[in-house]
Amino acid sequence: MARMAKNEIPFDEEGVEKCQCPKCPVQTSSACAKDWIIKMEKSGDIEQTPGLYCSTGQSDCPDLDLKQMCICGNCPIWHQYKLMNKDPKNYYCQGGEAKDEPGAMTERRKHIGDDIGLEDLK
Ligand code: SF4
Ligand code: SF4
Repeated sequence: MARMAKNEIPFDEEGVEKCQCPKCPVQTSSACAKDWIIKMEKSGDIEQTPGLYCSTGQSDCPDLDLKQMCICGNCPIWHQYKLMNKDPKNYYCQGGEAKDEPGAMTERRKHIGDDIGLEDLK
């Protein structure tokens, strides 16, 4: 199924270029994410990017290392769309796309916050 934006953040080439996810420590040891990068490089198809999760929702990769620090705060998209004011604020690869409404965070996301010990995810 085609990847689509679930909010106002466009899923497009410009966003893929700006997204920091492919070099994020949460994904660097993931064989699954590496596979996506290789597929994108070979095909040129941005739908294969292991990123822009703030727009399209969580990753399908089961081997992300959530003990590592999310680097969304270094991303121009994060600043442009003021994602510090959204829910969740980071770790979109696990928590899903950025949503406007406060308290949109599911129980599952709270567990992710517990797992990685980050209070601001709760
Ligand atoms: S959403 Fe954050 S934690 Fe997940 S891959 Fe992107 S930068 Fe890393
Ligand atoms: S805010 Fe995070 S998930 Fe969104 S484009 Fe930037 S690095 Fe990728």
